[in-house]
Amino acid sequence: MRQILTGTTAAKGMALGRARLVQPSRYLVDTRPLNEDEVDVELAHLHRALETARQELHELRGKLHGALAREVNEFIDAHSLLLDDPELLRGLDDLVRIGHYRPGAALKKQRDRLAAVFEAMDDPYLRSRKEDVDQVINRVISALQRQTSREERKLAARVGEILIADTIAPADMAHLAGSGLLGVVASSGSAYSHSAILARSLDLPMMVGVRDALSTIHDDDLILLDTERGEVVVHPTAQDLARYRAWQREAAQEGRRLATLANAPTRTKDGTDIRLLANAEMPPDIAMARARGADGVGLYRTEFLFLRQKGLPTEDEQFIAYRDLVLGMGGLPVTIRTLDLGADKADAAGLVLRGEDNPALGVRGVRLSLRYPAVFTTQIRAILRAACYGPVRVLVPMVTQPDEMIAVRTLFKLARQELKRENVDLPEKLALGAMVEVPAAAINVRALLEHADFLAIGTNDLAQYVLAADRGNDALDNIYNPLQPALLRLLSYVIAEGRRAKKPVSLCGEIGGDVNFTSLLLALGLCEFSMHPSQLLHVRDRLAMLDRSVLRAQAPRILRARTHEEAEALLASITA
Ligand code: PEP
Ligand code: MG
Repeated sequence: MRQILTGTTAAKGMALGRARLVQPSRYLVDTRPLNEDEVDVELAHLHRALETARQELHELRGKLHGALAREVNEFIDAHSLLLDDPELLRGLDDLVRIGHYRPGAALKKQRDRLAAVFEAMDDPYLRSRKEDVDQVINRVISALQRQTSREERKLAARVGEILIADTIAPADMAHLAGSGLLGVVASSGSAYSHSAILARSLDLPMMVGVRDALSTIHDDDLILLDTERGEVVVHPTAQDLARYRAWQREAAQEGRRLATLANAPTRTKDGTDIRLLANAEMPPDIAMARARGADGVGLYRTEFLFLRQKGLPTEDEQFIAYRDLVLGMGGLPVTIRTLDLGADKADAAGLVLRGEDNPALGVRGVRLSLRYPAVFTTQIRAILRAACYGPVRVLVPMVTQPDEMIAVRTLFKLARQELKRENVDLPEKLALGAMVEVPAAAINVRALLEHADFLAIGTNDLAQYVLAADRGNDALDNIYNPLQPALLRLLSYVIAEGRRAKKPVSLCGEIGGDVNFTSLLLALGLCEFSMHPSQLLHVRDRLAMLDRSVLRAQAPRILRARTHEEAEALLASITA
């Protein structure tokens, strides 16, 4: 019987597939003791499952890009370390070999043991590691069941499924998308969660807050996920299927139309040229940015160089990465952001301070770089050398006050003198810009502009600090909303002050590449958008439909909104 469930769209699109439910009850384990002659076979099972879990994590790491990658990778690394923990592994082996536990029961036992140890700790950070243990052990148990249960094996081999779960971790979503997942229905969760952002960048339709999903839908039910209507249709009818086919045809047509925009100029309907820049990190991002006609790179995140290996990257390693970026962009300007590590984004080299009570408000971004002038100078030297190969700008993350810009400029000056003494070629003067992502930097932007040649607004962090709301916390999705009036007024102010000082202002947070915010940003006066390269054509297309002067005239009304709901309604009426 056809049934309809409703929810909130987190990533657009439609999907038709079989339901695959993820229930915690899946992880029930067999507690009967092993016979002596089963021990070796079961130990081998256990080790294969551990290896599968390690492999899964390794593959996940390669699939993620951008800011999300940095955040998710931190979890992935912590989980990988746990999987290799000699004590954990020895304990598991002993439980199977000596205690005759089945692998699933041994994993559960170890989880309970470790959970008790972590729970007893005073340090809240260490206490929170219990969750990591849970997630890692669940991953191994799940791998174990995939190997041993025929039902699971069948499931794992099938593509064409729509996942029905309470929530889904970003890492698991990336993995499943790689194995043919078509869409996600979550009974809780928020459209601003990392999972939702990841679903959008993977082009995976997703609905959240579909309350009765787990109780109404059964494994293998045919499901039509229709985010256009905000509906999950269980047992769709022929009419539903016809609607889906029509959508498929349109989506294919739309894809072809967008492809023709790759070489088109970026211009609003009333003829204002807009600069579209790419957020990049890896070589494929650079290739995609070029292929889609980006005007340059607006944000090159250098963290990955520091996260992918143990120890610090050398000056030459960094120089090669930056030079290749500059060459890859073929003469278009690139903006290299200096290291943006933070206490919550652990690095392999041990720069990041451990045990800060409040890492998001701790020694991160430029604060960390300035604590390690020698490490920072190595990066600065590499940037200066790479800048001889094409136009480069330098962007400083997490700036709070002007003296940080002054300190960075001084380090650049000293590095230049050093390189000159070594007879190394030097570029012309480089523009040095500040990220505006700390509220103090936004509010005191006039003073900052005296020391910055350009600004890049990082709305991901700015929103979280203005609203005092962690963007990864689903419980706060009514607060973490980019349309919050306080944030809009701050954005408008920073953009206006940049213009007053005749200095370029770009925006490189998630909303820069989200077409739902394009009209808003245009209304607030933004002329430079930086985004994941997958979004370039969508935003170019949207800009061509918008009349900038009409939107600009509406800015005062938008800025008078008292709530984010009011701002949203206003924006909808203006762009309707
Ligand atoms: C931001 O904070 O909006 C930003 C672009 O920087 P990141 O996401 O790398 O912190
Ligand atoms: Mg940031």
